[in-house]
Amino acid sequence: MTATLFTNVRVIDGTGEAPFAAEVLVKGNRIAQIARNGAAIDAPEAETVDGGGSTLMPGLTDAHAHLSFLNAERLEDLTSLSAEAHALETAKVARLVLDHGYTSMFSGSSARTHTDIAIRDAINAGDIPGPRLLAATRQMTVTGGFGDIGRNGAYAVVLNGADAFRDACRQAARDGVDIFKIVPSAARRGADPLAEDTAMTDAEVAAVCEVARQRGRRVSAHARSADAVKMCLRHGVDMIYHATLADDEAKDMLEAAKDRIFVAPAMGLPYSRLRDAESYGVATDEYTHARATKEIETVSATMAELHRRGVRVLPGGDYGFKWNPHGKNARDLSMFVECFGFTSLEAIRAATQWGGQLMGPGLGLGHELGQVREGYLADLLLVDGDPSQEIEILQHRERLLAIMKDGAFHKPPPREPLVRRQAAE
Ligand SMILES: [Zn+2]
Repeated sequence: MTATLFTNVRVIDGTGEAPFAAEVLVKGNRIAQIARNGAAIDAPEAETVDGGGSTLMPGLTDAHAHLSFLNAERLEDLTSLSAEAHALETAKVARLVLDHGYTSMFSGSSARTHTDIAIRDAINAGDIPGPRLLAATRQMTVTGGFGDIGRNGAYAVVLNGADAFRDACRQAARDGVDIFKIVPSAARRGADPLAEDTAMTDAEVAAVCEVARQRGRRVSAHARSADAVKMCLRHGVDMIYHATLADDEAKDMLEAAKDRIFVAPAMGLPYSRLRDAESYGVATDEYTHARATKEIETVSATMAELHRRGVRVLPGGDYGFKWNPHGKNARDLSMFVECFGFTSLEAIRAATQWGGQLMGPGLGLGHELGQVREGYLADLLLVDGDPSQEIEILQHRERLLAIMKDGAFHKPPPREPLVRRQAAE
């Protein structure tokens, strides 16, 4: 069994507890021992990594990932490649996000029916590097719903009626999908840029959740209208995306379900639309600008309140578009601090401990992912600096000195002693 001993590290354990000095021993793919308060671990068989005062923390989880969205500008372009080229390009993205410290990804939908599944299986087989991945269906929407962009819009699948959804979910379960992604709400273009209709019916959402329960799958939902959020909660959806227009009743229902529900605002697209789109050569019309501005304002207030009420709100921001490309994912943590009033440690907790709780059931795990804790799986980052003081560090891959997934280094620590590196700064 391989063993790695991290000495001289500051540990951020992922629970929100303040960082502490410790030694951490990894044996095989698990964290075997943690010694605090200057205590030393005796492990002569282990390869020792002297952290030189750097930070050891859990690997990050993205709760709304689209690995097969290849930084396209328009939804119509998400499936422009052949299926074969698409899979190869997606494999590169899987490696890229792991290079950026993301050891777990909960898919927010696959651009093609089997891409997520194929990439997940290749990662699990050790054929390609990548994060732990829960594979999703294509976005399942209704006629006229968000994602129904006509004949060339094959990135979504259009279904109508409970039987059609049930059949699609059974096929997806048969094919090995982990997550059924549905779109219960649909934008209404009008004077109010945030106006949203509820597009799916109770019977349709209930059918999806029924198959999920029978087959042990998760359900995630693009739910922006208050009614769509409530519909999801009534029927047992696991992950609610956006929740933009959640009213008081919806917030009460979310709070009542806080032990089982997860929320991810997925605000990366509007956030980067206002800040970065121009630098990527992407034009923003007046309507889109107004919508993004109001979305950020509304979502920020909603998420701050849900956080105060103890609902688990997770980072994950639709990376995979031209102006919001893969690799920038950790910007979500800074956004949580800037926009939702999270402390840096709370943002880290959301991306690690809560990320582990989100991923665990789909991976067939109990409570054993997302923390630096004895017995937990060794998905770890060695970070140059202290992200609890400076959350932005996590956006810079060169600050990730080492990346470990499942007890093995994806990125090994540098050869030169880290002690000297720190002293020289
Ligand atoms: Zn998305």
